Amino acid sequence: MSAEITERNLCDICGQLLFICVYSYMKPNFDLSLILNRIEDAIKPYPKAAMFELAERGYGSLFEQLISCIVSIRTLDETTIPVSLRLFDTARTPEQFLALDIPTLTQILYGTTYPDQKAYTMRGIADRIVNEFGGNLPADFVTLTSLKGVGPKCANLALGVATGQAAISVDIHVHRVVNRWGYVQTKQPEQTLKVLETQVPREQWVNINRLLMPFGKHICTGTLPHCSTCPVLDYCEQVGVERHR
Ligand code: SF4
Repeated sequence: MSAEITERNLCDICGQLLFICVYSYMKPNFDLSLILNRIEDAIKPYPKAAMFELAERGYGSLFEQLISCIVSIRTLDETTIPVSLRLFDTARTPEQFLALDIPTLTQILYGTTYPDQKAYTMRGIADRIVNEFGGNLPADFVTLTSLKGVGPKCANLALGVATGQAAISVDIHVHRVVNRWGYVQTKQPEQTLKVLETQVPREQWVNINRLLMPFGKHICTGTLPHCSTCPVLDYCEQVGVERHR
């Protein structure tokens, strides 16, 4: 009886059938630093993740990062960046946001998902910063996640980018990539965050989102990931990958 030969039972490295291929039995010990270094090189041709790009352009305060992250919710970076820039042309501080009415803010947010809901969220955040924190947003996770509309992903991303605090932001790309590696086995991003916080050295926490977001968007894509040219194929278990390029 002969087994069907498909792409799934051929080695990505040498093209041999997996049961006679030596590479398929030779996964090296997982080396996160080396993997992140390779990914750093691989993503150079691609745009930076939106929050990091905005910080480089001078919009790196904690408040601005938080606001941009809210813009980015269910919105592509290609939209997040121009909308954030348009927004910051009008208002950059909590006080300036409070001076905008909801219809004006909604209009500026046109192009993102749920612009009116995001306008209320931003006004609510600005109001608490001004009236509860005297205009200065405390740079801590508990305070940020107490703001209505701010979840762990945005809180950690804003803290990491704006303040350099060790913080891991797990978006859908990070969650997918580390599960495919076999580095974590989790169902939800919130679980992934907890596991990564126990496994990733703190000096790499901010790099996780900075590197894996563009890596997941352009190389380890949701459908048909680019495994055959992937720089970390030799370390990856390809968990759940049934078809790839
Ligand atoms: S080998 Fe494939 S599944 Fe693994 S990280 Fe690379 S692109 Fe993703």
